[in-house]
Amino acid sequence: MSVREIEASGGCQCGAVRYHASKMLDNSHLCHCRMCQKAVGNIFAALVAAPDDAITWTRGKPSIFMSSEHVERGFCNKCGTPLFYHDVTNGRTNFTIGSLDHPEWFPSGGNTGTESKVPWFDNISGDPDGGPTEAPDRREWAAAIKATNNQHPDHDTKVWPPAGGTE
Ligand SMILES: [Zn+2]
Ligand SMILES: [Zn+2]
Repeated sequence: MSVREIEASGGCQCGAVRYHASKMLDNSHLCHCRMCQKAVGNIFAALVAAPDDAITWTRGKPSIFMSSEHVERGFCNKCGTPLFYHDVTNGRTNFTIGSLDHPEWFPSGGNTGTESKVPWFDNISGDPDGGPTEAPDRREWAAAIKATNNQHPDHDTKVWPPAGGTE
């Protein structure tokens, strides 16, 4: 596993917890193990790590569930976003790629925990494309969501939530 000299930030959906990493590791992967499935409430956890000593919690603090004696699962206790997998013995924290501000920077390089991989995972890229959120037939619905959006934006903010409503 080698170090990538890139900075990355991320946080939870509501913005109560934000983090910054001054460097990242090149271990981007999908873990299908049953514990990761439960921890993220999904069929796999998409994870990429930073060295523990490169991480700063820039707003709030994550809550932690010890899923075993070795592993901390970090999440926001206000909105529930799963934030990380942290093996307390190896000095690195695996962030959930979806919680990073730029998930597109971390393409998965492999799969782990495949004993629990759902059998239909291998077919999902062939599923029909339902189109973007703001497809023509959903424009009104998407606009209503945008107008009342409580999600923190994909960059750091000085004050959140903003006094005059979301940006
Ligand atoms: Zn939150
Ligand atoms: Zn796992």
